[in-house]
Amino acid sequence: MGKVLIIGAGGVGNVVAHKCAEHPEVFEQILLASRTLSKCEQIAQRIKNKYGLAIQTMQVDADKTNELIQLLQQHQPDLVINVALPYQDLSIMEACYQTKTHYLDTANYESKDVAKFEYKEQWAYHPKYQQAGITAVLGCGFDPGVTNMFCAYAQKHLFDEIQTIDILDCNAGEHGHTFATNFNPEINIREVTQVVRHWSEGKWIQTPPILDPNCVHFRFNYPEVGPRESYLLYHEEMESLVKHIKGLKRIRFWMTFSDQYLTYLRVLHDLGLTSIKPIDYEGQKIVPLKFLKTLLPDPASLGKNYQGKTVIGCVFTGIKNGQKIQKYIYNVCDHAKAYAETGAQAVSYTTGVPAMAGAMMILKKIWQGPGVFNVEQLDPDPCLQVIAQNGLPWQVTDFKGNLPD
Ligand code: NDP
Repeated sequence: MGKVLIIGAGGVGNVVAHKCAEHPEVFEQILLASRTLSKCEQIAQRIKNKYGLAIQTMQVDADKTNELIQLLQQHQPDLVINVALPYQDLSIMEACYQTKTHYLDTANYESKDVAKFEYKEQWAYHPKYQQAGITAVLGCGFDPGVTNMFCAYAQKHLFDEIQTIDILDCNAGEHGHTFATNFNPEINIREVTQVVRHWSEGKWIQTPPILDPNCVHFRFNYPEVGPRESYLLYHEEMESLVKHIKGLKRIRFWMTFSDQYLTYLRVLHDLGLTSIKPIDYEGQKIVPLKFLKTLLPDPASLGKNYQGKTVIGCVFTGIKNGQKIQKYIYNVCDHAKAYAETGAQAVSYTTGVPAMAGAMMILKKIWQGPGVFNVEQLDPDPCLQVIAQNGLPWQVTDFKGNLPD
């Protein structure tokens, strides 16, 4: 059905490659390109051993649009799955535009110099993609990604009007390291140390960051793993969901953190090691956060001893047939099972499976543009079905608990 080029050979790229390899009828040819060729080769070897399938590997610097254009012209994939870093989103989108190649990613654009992520520059490609007759799907991991599909599903099937959405992301896993991040340390730490925002009655409300003693948190009772302290955080899917969910009055995002994680992060932050401002070190300029990244465990290596589960989902309140109702849609993913299947922990797994499923929707022309879309703008049903069949089953329940006002 099509030829896919995966860019990025990290934890998520490994899962995407495995999952595409399980569907050779859709992904007839799989190419994997990244900055470090040896990482592509290791993944290709694992896939060869497991499925007897050869995938082609190549080196690319995805910051360089011209290099990408050459690569796309040479290999002519139908679709690029971008699971490199958010810094590369615009260069890859531009190369896809110039070569008329469909595009999908899992995280929105962020500049290296400012720790702020937003969709503005990616949305600006909408008319260009329309005119080129190609489709871009933005944020097709788990959150963003499946959480957006849950919202679209709730809007389509469960509610006449959704009034509030609370997205709750719990990682109740233990990896055995004193401090590690579950995806790229640089991107992860930039995300969790920033000012927190949620959206209420048409306005963004700012609250203190998670390291501030006055930050907002509460204990939520997660299915299968029990009560966990959950912290209010800004997360990118809220930016598109406030535009696309009709009648919405409030949306918030919560993420669990252990006391140990927060203590380590506070010390690193207080020492200046989470800063992205370059400093002088023995006559050389270094970025403290990039230096810290080199000391922290590679997220792709965490899977081996990871125990426990992730539980990610959305609680909705709203109106159905004149009645006020509350629903909770969620997935539970087991780190050890994800590792046994793909050699990756559950955070990479829950990101890689939806990226493959979204790519399948594009190649099968079930999700058709042309243009640039966030996931909730597309039909959630076929994609959620593929996701459930590929290792991430999800549940819809009546929600009986309480959330903070
Ligand atoms: P990793 O750091 O493990 O992998 C990123 C890969 O991209 C690495 O192989 C890296 O190469 C490669 N890369 C970086 N820069 C370039 C470049 N200029 N050119 C080519 N390749 C490059 O990250 P993850 O796999 O954990 O995360 C991948 C993406 O998934 C990130 O954008 C992250 O934000 C997103 N994500 C989304 C989630 C969701 O639910 N939506 C959840 C988790 C992650 P090298 O090996 O040389 O460093």
